[in-house]
Amino acid sequence: MTSQSGDEPNFASSGSGSASGSGSISSKQNDNSSPLWNYVTKLEKRGATGGTWNYQCNICGETRNGSYTRVKAHLLQISGEGVAICKKVTKSQKLEMLTLLEEWEKRKKQGASREVPLPSQCQS
Ligand SMILES: [Zn+2]
Repeated sequence: MTSQSGDEPNFASSGSGSASGSGSISSKQNDNSSPLWNYVTKLEKRGATGGTWNYQCNICGETRNGSYTRVKAHLLQISGEGVAICKKVTKSQKLEMLTLLEEWEKRKKQGASREVPLPSQCQS
């Protein structure tokens, strides 16, 4: 117990190699990117495809590689994801992130089904 090593999570390449069924290529990135990306700085994109980035956590300053899932696990301190959780994030910061995330996911859902039924306006 002299030194703490082996902190680095193993570089697991994408776990399940299931290509996304629907042919939706992530073309629009600004609109639907998670608010959690605001808490990290994207340094460099890794790989031609997929959302894997070399990023720096704005809160603890650590530089890591990973996809959004890892960013989320790091910031929201979700253990069991094979990611080192953020040790400097405060309770209020976490709460803020969770709130933003909830709003974002709500917005995303609304955006997905933006067909608003208009029962009164019957065109015939
Ligand atoms: Zn961090």
